[in-house]
Amino acid sequence: MTHTRDRRSGEFELIDWIREQVRTTASSEKVKLGIGDDCAILASSGGRDLLLTTDMLMDGRHFRTDEHDLQTIGYKAMAVNLSDIAAMAGVPVAALVSVALPRHRDQSAGDVARRLVQGLQDAATEFDVALVGGDTNAWGGPLVVSIAVLGETTGRGAVLRSGARPGDAILVTGALGGSLMGRHLRPRPRLREAIMLHEALDLHAMVDISDGLAADLGHILQQSGGLGAILDAGDIPIHADAREQSLRDSSSPLEHALHDGEDFELCCTVDPRRWEQGRESLLQKLAMTRIGTVTQEPGVRLRLVDGRIESIHPRGFDHLRD
Ligand code: ADP
Ligand code: MG
Repeated sequence: MTHTRDRRSGEFELIDWIREQVRTTASSEKVKLGIGDDCAILASSGGRDLLLTTDMLMDGRHFRTDEHDLQTIGYKAMAVNLSDIAAMAGVPVAALVSVALPRHRDQSAGDVARRLVQGLQDAATEFDVALVGGDTNAWGGPLVVSIAVLGETTGRGAVLRSGARPGDAILVTGALGGSLMGRHLRPRPRLREAIMLHEALDLHAMVDISDGLAADLGHILQQSGGLGAILDAGDIPIHADAREQSLRDSSSPLEHALHDGEDFELCCTVDPRRWEQGRESLLQKLAMTRIGTVTQEPGVRLRLVDGRIESIHPRGFDHLRD
């Protein structure tokens, strides 16, 4: 679908505008990286940097309380926040959880909170992060859950979106597309994988795939100085759910893999020689695929199996437009 897009009114234009305002009003030596990446990076006196991220989930947008179990919603809310820590190759430490609980006749706000917290705690236990505080409110509106997570870098430091170089191999974890078939409710933040990859390959850039491969790879390329990429259509790992979903709509499995949101896999770039050297031993431990190469020429292009080249236009979700 083609929209006439007002360049000033999209989510990303708004975030750019906020970034400009913030730049002129505040500066702290402690802030190593502000708005624009998966996490902010703060210097700590302990040597390792601190990572800080927040994500808000709303009933009707990221989940549906009339369809989804509250424990599952709690798990998802925590997991998507942890995914941003994974995207920097960090280790999560602690989380704050704020809730706006719905007041409904058929279910008390306290009951909603208790079931939600079970799911939050399931994810917190699984990924070893401490739930250390939050804020509780109730209102006549729908359920909203907002989480902030503090993490720490490893000795290798954080992996930013902005470090890609021409010639880099582009890798993704897992398989992509069709998460709306149900997987989006139980995302697996790739924390362990991110650290293993960074340790083995010394990653140049990384992002977690929340808005779709094309859109999120686009963030890496744009923030790395306006680079481009060529992707090999036959190498993109397509999830079985993407094939299933394509039977129900007019998009191909490949289109689902390129554009569906909420995969929460990782996309990273690395020196192609490091990948060739480290590939065999890494593949014994985790599912990884090389899908293409970073180019000096801007724009994301797809090399089809028959050799033809097509441009890809990201269709990631924009909260202010879609
Ligand atoms: P992600 O998908 O990784 O959670 P987003 O696309 O939500 O990232 O956000 C992109 C960047 O913009 C992040 O660095 C985020 O912290 C920042 N950001 C988003 N909304 C705001 C806001 N209202 N004020 C300040 N920074 C924001
Ligand atoms: Mg992210």
